[in-house]
Amino acid sequence: MSPTLTFLGAAGTVTGAKFLLTADGTRLLMESGMFQGLRELRARNWQATPVEPATLAAVLLSHAHIDHSGYLPRLARDGFQGPIFCSPGTADLLKIMLPDAAHLQQEEAEFRNRKEATKHSPALPLFTTADADRALALVKPIAYEQTFAPAQGIEARFRMSGHILGASTVEVVTGGRRLVYSGDLGRYDVPIMRDPVRVAAADTLLVESTYGDRLHPPGDAAPIVEQAVRRAAEQRGWLLIPAFAIGRTQDLLFLIRELEEAGRIPKLPVYLDSPMGIESTKIYARHQEEHDTDVARVEAEGKRPFVPARFQLSPTGEDSKKLNGLEGPAIVIAGSGMATGGRILHHLRHRLSDERTTVLFVGYQAAGTRGRQLRDGAAKLRIFGEDVPVRAAIMATDALSAHADQGEIIRWLRGFSRPPGMTYCVHGEPSASTALRDAIERQLGWRCAVAADRQQIDL
Ligand SMILES: [Zn+2]
Repeated sequence: MSPTLTFLGAAGTVTGAKFLLTADGTRLLMESGMFQGLRELRARNWQATPVEPATLAAVLLSHAHIDHSGYLPRLARDGFQGPIFCSPGTADLLKIMLPDAAHLQQEEAEFRNRKEATKHSPALPLFTTADADRALALVKPIAYEQTFAPAQGIEARFRMSGHILGASTVEVVTGGRRLVYSGDLGRYDVPIMRDPVRVAAADTLLVESTYGDRLHPPGDAAPIVEQAVRRAAEQRGWLLIPAFAIGRTQDLLFLIRELEEAGRIPKLPVYLDSPMGIESTKIYARHQEEHDTDVARVEAEGKRPFVPARFQLSPTGEDSKKLNGLEGPAIVIAGSGMATGGRILHHLRHRLSDERTTVLFVGYQAAGTRGRQLRDGAAKLRIFGEDVPVRAAIMATDALSAHADQGEIIRWLRGFSRPPGMTYCVHGEPSASTALRDAIERQLGWRCAVAADRQQIDL
């Protein structure tokens, strides 16, 4: 019987990645992601997995983002005991991401119970920190480019995908068939991350399509960051940067240091106000095997690539609150990236009404978030039940995206020396996946389809 693959998530939607590979009676799960976003999607995290976790031989994981890894604690809690294979960088990031996801789950359950805002009494977390620890104990790091056997009769290999630290494409060979999964693809010629590594051959290819219908604007983030820092310095005010702890924060630290070094911006105090940002920056600094030439150049000069001249860490909540009493000019980087929660909220509450303040958004701002309201020019913003008038200058750049756009995905696909037998678009809203499929058919002439939820394919 030929090996089969079943799409159990990230088909017709971006999140919840889970692909079940069955070969000769052996079952292996590629990705174990959490569904995120709309309520109907999140509800799927609570449905029983269509496969008994204890029957899985192993999990292969492309990277640490929660929509790819966040279901691992639940899988371990429900009886999965096999190894979880991933790159060394991913293994390190999981150590901070899975416990953090568990904390959020527990906080949300407590909040619901306190407010009695639940039909389920008591509300339960999807998983706990003990479940996260259980999953972490199963993690087996494997170096890039090394062939290994995740289960009997199956060979696999990770290659760098350039998306975030540790992010990989995954190749699986079984029964003479070669399956390649792109994971999340990064971008070409960006700071910090190397280009996605070329893959030459596949019988079946799964390609992500998050930005399958988009082209990123040309240009880099340096000019806008420069402008924002200069404004803060001239106004003697604060520059608030809401940023995700992993990836975006290290991009910013690197960029600020480069601009300082080039004399393009004054050396202001830079506060990294995020425990997860601090930990992930240490992990980025440590994994030198992944650094691109820009970062390696700084290291070769004996300098620290993610450390601006007047760098300060704010690990505790107390450290964070102390910043409210300090005069600018200064820069603070804090989560969350869309100002939906996290420490950035108290900074915004404290400083949005001050016209000397500058706010710089460096990532996508989803509809309905405070970040989107500010970007759209809101005159006031509701924070902790209070309407805060917006007098700060609001700036934004989309140049720091960690996802390949349509052109960059096609560029990676052009690395294949012959067309895969069949290509499936995964990880996308239907419009994005369809647009990428059309582009692949038109520009490459390949056979391509949008993966359907619960669809089973023969490899
Ligand atoms: Zn990702």
